[in-house]
Amino acid sequence: MKRLFAGIFGLAVVIVTFYASTNAQNRAVLAEAQRITGDRFTVGARTPNGATVYAVRQPSAAMLNAIDRGLADLFSVARRNGYRRALNYTSYTIFVANPDRTKDGSGRYSPDIAVGAAQYAGTGYDQGGYIFAAGMIIARNPMAFVISEHTSNFARVSDLVRYEGEHLVLYQNDRRRYEQTKDHSQGGGHPILR
Ligand SMILES: [Zn+2]
Repeated sequence: MKRLFAGIFGLAVVIVTFYASTNAQNRAVLAEAQRITGDRFTVGARTPNGATVYAVRQPSAAMLNAIDRGLADLFSVARRNGYRRALNYTSYTIFVANPDRTKDGSGRYSPDIAVGAAQYAGTGYDQGGYIFAAGMIIARNPMAFVISEHTSNFARVSDLVRYEGEHLVLYQNDRRRYEQTKDHSQGGGHPILR
């Protein structure tokens, strides 16, 4: 009886530790998303299929559905490529940021975020120390990325989700191909998986 009790107690401690480290991890990912975007993600939501969303304000149903469509497209193309890992909605966290511009250079609706130029410094993307990005990976494990809030052209949201997701699926399933395609400064874009 005493041993049984010790066993249960041990399990409880393991569970508490697990939750604590998950929360610490999630806090670190949130802090990174806020550092990169300069936004505060105060609203938590879930897509109908179970992906986690953090946003600067309550995301519209159209945004949430578009995220699910993008993940569905991602999972089907990943399966076609023989990948099996990370193909479930609940493993993904999507940050929905305030756009830093809503139109691209040619005047098309294109809500994007400005981020530090880093490896894109001096390339055609460089706007003077920063670049406009449609989406960006925040963490690979747990899997998280950021896109901008859209008020129309939700097909673009689905595409961006699929494209950022490609990096994460490759990281989880095909590390060599991930390394070859993770950085677009040397050319090569999306879709990666066909
Ligand atoms: Zn990319």
